[in-house]
Amino acid sequence: MVSTAKVRIKLPSGEEVYGEPGTRIIDNMPRRAGLVARVGGRLVDLTSTIREDWSLVEVLDFDSEEGRQTYWHTSSHILAQAVKRLFPHAKLGIGPPIENGFYYDFDLGGYAFTQEDLERIEEEMYKIIGEDLPIERLEVSREEAIKKFKEMGETYKVELLEEMSDEVVSLYKQGEFVDLCRGPHLPSTGYVRAIKITNVSSAYWRGDERNPAMQRIYGISFPAQEMLRKHLALLEEAKRRDHRVLGPKLDLFSIPSEVIGPGLVLWHPKGALARKIIEDFLREIHLRNGYQLVYTPHIAWGSLWETSGHLSYYRDMMYVFEKEGVQHVVKPMNCPFHILIYKSRSRSYRELPIRYFELGTVYRYERSGTLHGLLRVRGFTQDDAHIFCRRDQLEDEIVGVITLMEEILSAFGFEEYEVELSTWDPEHPEDYMGSPEVWEHAQNALAKALERKGYEYKVMPGEAAFYGPKIDVKLVDSLGRKWQCTTIQVDFNLPEKFDVTYVDRDGKEKRAVMVHRALLGSLERFFGILVEHYAGELPLWVAPVQVRVVPVSDKNLPYAKAVYEKLVSLGIRAELDDSPTTLSYKIRQSEVDRVPYIAVVGRKEEKTGTVSIRRRRKGDLGKMSVDEFAKMILEQSKMPI
Ligand SMILES: [Zn+2]
Ligand SMILES: [Zn+2]
Repeated sequence: MVSTAKVRIKLPSGEEVYGEPGTRIIDNMPRRAGLVARVGGRLVDLTSTIREDWSLVEVLDFDSEEGRQTYWHTSSHILAQAVKRLFPHAKLGIGPPIENGFYYDFDLGGYAFTQEDLERIEEEMYKIIGEDLPIERLEVSREEAIKKFKEMGETYKVELLEEMSDEVVSLYKQGEFVDLCRGPHLPSTGYVRAIKITNVSSAYWRGDERNPAMQRIYGISFPAQEMLRKHLALLEEAKRRDHRVLGPKLDLFSIPSEVIGPGLVLWHPKGALARKIIEDFLREIHLRNGYQLVYTPHIAWGSLWETSGHLSYYRDMMYVFEKEGVQHVVKPMNCPFHILIYKSRSRSYRELPIRYFELGTVYRYERSGTLHGLLRVRGFTQDDAHIFCRRDQLEDEIVGVITLMEEILSAFGFEEYEVELSTWDPEHPEDYMGSPEVWEHAQNALAKALERKGYEYKVMPGEAAFYGPKIDVKLVDSLGRKWQCTTIQVDFNLPEKFDVTYVDRDGKEKRAVMVHRALLGSLERFFGILVEHYAGELPLWVAPVQVRVVPVSDKNLPYAKAVYEKLVSLGIRAELDDSPTTLSYKIRQSEVDRVPYIAVVGRKEEKTGTVSIRRRRKGDLGKMSVDEFAKMILEQSKMPI
């Protein structure tokens, strides 16, 4: 019989054991059966002492997000310890776990790590793992911690401590190494099995260019060498698919930041054609789903952005300039314009919902250090829409948005999503706009819509913006990477600021509910993701070139040209390769250029009015009449609506 005083410990396997209050969690479970524990929503070290008032201890392993984060956090401490052993004068910045691995920042007074240094650091990390140092949590007063880190010369840690308001802070100690840290951590350094430095870059202390530059070492670690090997292979594959390499190579786009400024994209003809097809698809599918198209200007008076509140809380990200003594702003968002269209006349409850869609190009200032290919730019086009509806329509509207998102994303081959619902923190209603009743209503509508669509989702309490709850959707690509694309945001703020209303059944003016939503997010970012997902081999309906007509020799050029012209006249995106190279070279080049179909034409084809077809990755498909071939392509490349 189990005494009722004992505390239930649920292991990752699902098995349950019981622990005596006063003993450590880890002493009550099989060796290495987990990494960290959750007690009442809080994460604690496995070396924590079980308290009488605990009811359930949930042990987590590497399969859980929390387990991995703890694993990588401890790995970052191992990295810092290794660096301090080899470079005792290095000053420590911060060292958090990240989505895939961890990093730690070091100030080496201007010195940059060499490849050799990194190899030595890696060796030292394995030594620390081999030492299997127990990891201990210490709680000390803030003053004591400041004194300690001052003595150690860790000025950055002192700075962090001085800004904290806590009376007591926690330190984590492994061997000779001590770090200021909230934890939790693994029980000992030996829990880490396979570890690797993946990258080193420079970063400013606290991301601010005015602060000293630090060296940021990135790493990854796993409980098995095989997992590390697989991960590194995936990184290699991701490198091969990097859109920043493929974009210019396939002549889709370029980002000549040294000439036009950072974060601005030039769409070359092939990229532009693919984008045009995506845009046509988006407009068409929105029209079929009850949206109305609008266009709005790229600049407006500052006073508009004062009303919206953007100038006060978003100013750092906006491009502001003056003309004729009047402040102007390049739009960072489309919302105020859509509101003005809505407000151009009085609206009745019968008209709602109203949905305005715009491929709206916006400009937002982002630090040049954070820009990254097409994924993070300063000028981009959102597939933006704003829905104005009544409160009783909100849930159905969200269901509609999610259904449309599924249709659009699956058209591009994305079928797997991860969903988060950001809600407010009900303990701090003063931080948010709108009454608890309004918040509960909107959050319920979002949650119910997700449930009706059969989604599992993660609730993120306290993650909502001050003006409303939202749904975020990440898509999962062919390498299993997750990309944030869709956002569905309820807004209580702008309808107040702009007095957005409708006349209800009872003749009274009521506040309309407003939803912002972008499904792909931005065309630039989505295109980058698409190129990486397909390694540049875009689906036939999006591919800027669908067929390349390749003559066997110059003698066949006139027939090749006739075939090419016929295909183009039927609306097929074709090219003619009339270069003075050999047939095998032309075929190889078409493969390199990711052209889906090659139509080879020689004497035999000319005689019979046919083409010999090669499908990329599938090889020879045999001969077909030109008409048959054209029909097949048109059939296969229909817009997926
Ligand atoms: Zn830490
Ligand atoms: Zn908006």
